[in-house]
Parts: sequence; structure tokens; C-alpha cells
Amino acid sequence: MKLEDILANTKPSISFEFFPPKTDKGEENLWRCIQELSPLKPAFVSVTYGAGGSTQNRTRRIVERIRKETTLEPMAHLTCVGSTQQDLATLLAQYKASGIKNILALRGDAPEGKDEFEAVTGGFSYATDLVKFIREQNGLSVAVATYPEGHPESAGGVADDLKYLKIKQDEGAIAAVTQYFFDNEHYYRFRDQAEKLGITIPIIPGIMPIANYEQIVRFSAMCGASIPDWLHAKMKPVAQDLDTIKTMGIELATAQCQDLISNGVPGVHIYALNKSEASIAICSNL
Ligand SMILES: Cc1cc2nc3c(=O)[nH]c(=O)nc-3n(C[C@H](O)[C@H](O)[C@H](O)COP(=O)(O)OP(=O)(O)OC[C@H]3O[C@@H](n4cnc5c(N)ncnc54)[C@H](O)[C@@H]3O)c2cc1C
Repeated sequence: MKLEDILANTKPSISFEFFPPKTDKGEENLWRCIQELSPLKPAFVSVTYGAGGSTQNRTRRIVERIRKETTLEPMAHLTCVGSTQQDLATLLAQYKASGIKNILALRGDAPEGKDEFEAVTGGFSYATDLVKFIREQNGLSVAVATYPEGHPESAGGVADDLKYLKIKQDEGAIAAVTQYFFDNEHYYRFRDQAEKLGITIPIIPGIMPIANYEQIVRFSAMCGASIPDWLHAKMKPVAQDLDTIKTMGIELATAQCQDLISNGVPGVHIYALNKSEASIAICSNL
């Protein structure tokens, strides 16, 4: 099913994000996780595309296997990194042929060892270009990423992200999934401003259940998601006790989702990271 039909029929939607594992054991874990999450009937599940375009084949294989062997609706992430338009056209044609209907179109980050994103000759510089290309090429449904606290490279902060989200919508994106955030006010402010700019596509909040405080502090600094003082105060003293952090992470994500759902979000997209426990607990709490 195409994403626009899924989102029109399921309100609020629950969806999960996975990454393509590097090893056979990792892949076994992913399949166990998919089986455990399937009874929750997610509206869709998405599979990331490795930094630097490094997992193109693995992403495709996982997405196609989800399509073939489960009843879940997969969405393939796709970035501009390291690919020419011809490469992208070939991959998109393969996706279409294997019944994949939904793509999350991204610019991507700089490959390891490089400081900045650089478009390849004959490739694209921004997600806006990729959205346009996919819509013109083969009519797959396209979702995009957006940043309620601003993308780390956006000189104009949130205003830039809103401007480019509007262009993504105008080029044919039918939904946006946000970077994770821990203070829902960031999302509500962003949604209000988006509405004023004529952005009407569903903006699905990305939810990160914290499983490791120190990791999330490091990762959030890179991706521009702020961690509120109250969260530091709660988790820092017990940072080494991973069971306690996991329990707190589930409680916080549950409370966050409850507040978002009661404030009319189109759905919640949980960064499941190939583990089922937190997602199952959050959904059962909800
Ligand atoms: C939900 C979600 C899923 C993700 N999945 C993946 C993944 O699978 N693989 C991966 O490698 N990364 C992934 N990322 C990370 C993403 O690739 C990085 O955040 C990347 O730096 C930006 O990608 P983008 O699509 O948002 O880029 P863009 O929307 O192209 O934005 C990049 C920068 O350029 C600016 N900009 C955007 N459009 C224009 C324009 N037309 N003209 C001038 N400036 C512009 C923006 O303000 C921003 O600073 C994901 C992020 C999110 C939120």
C-alpha cells in the first residue's frame, strides 16, 4: 500500500525503524525483532540506508525480504550519497519491480573520513532534488526527514528546515518523519509554524526510546537533538545501570507518545534499532 493510503486509514499510526545489519547474526536478530513486532500491526516499517551509501544492497535485500515474507509494508530509506542519477534510477526501478511502494528520500551525511557532504558528479545535492527525481521517474510514494530543532548544518536554523520542508512537499513528498526530540514543545512549535507556511503533509514525530544515556548524549550532540536538563538530572546519576536506563527510557517514550497522540499527531515513528522490547512495552502502555 502507498504511504498516503496507509496514513489516511490509520490514525494515529505506529511505525518502526530498523537498520540493515552487517552480520548474519545481526540479521537473525533483526528477523526475530520483526516477528515480535508484527503482531502490533505497524502501519509501515522503514529500513535505513547506511552512512556513505554503504548499505545499498543490504537495505534493498532487507526491504525486499520484508515485502516478500511478511505482511508488513516496508519503506526504503535512500540517500544521495555516492550515487549518480543513473545509479538512483536503476535502484528505484528495481524497487518498483519488486513491489516496493514507499521511499524515504534523504540527502544523507558525509561518508566516514569526510567533513562535509559532497554531491558526486551527476548526483544530487539536496533531498529536495531526490524527491523531485523520484516523483518524476516512477511515481513511488516519497516521505522525507525534517528537524523540529533545526538540522545541524542549517545556517538559518528551524526557519531553513521549514522552508526546505515546504519545497519537499511542493516537489511531491507526501509525509515527513522528524528527527527525534525529547521535549514535545519543539514539535508543537514546528507544526504550528509549518501550518502557517502551508505545509499540510503529515509530520510524524520520530521517537527514540533511550537505552543507553551516554550513547544518546554523544549521538544527540551530532544530530542536533537537545537533551533537556531534567532528563540529564534523571539519567546521569544512574547512567551505568543499563536496566534502569532502559526502564526509564520506556517510561519517558510512553509519556512522550501519550502527550503527542492526545495532541493530534498523525502517528509515532519509533526508532526500534532492531530491538523489540522497548517498542512492545511502549505500545502496550499506550
Ligand atoms: C527520519 C530520519 C531518517 C534518516 N535516515 C537516514 C538514513 O537512512 N541514512 C542516512 O545516511 N541518514 C539518515 N538520516 C540522517 C540524514 O541523512 C541527515 O540528517 C542529513 O544530514 C540530511 O538529510 P536530509 O534529507 O534532511 O537533507 P536536506 O533536506 O537536503 O538538508 C540538508 C541541509 O541542506 C539544507 N537544504 C535542504 N534543501 C536545500 C536546498 N534545496 N537548497 C539549499 N539548502 C538546502 C538544509 O537546511 C540542511 O541543512 C535520517 C534522518 C532522519 C530525521
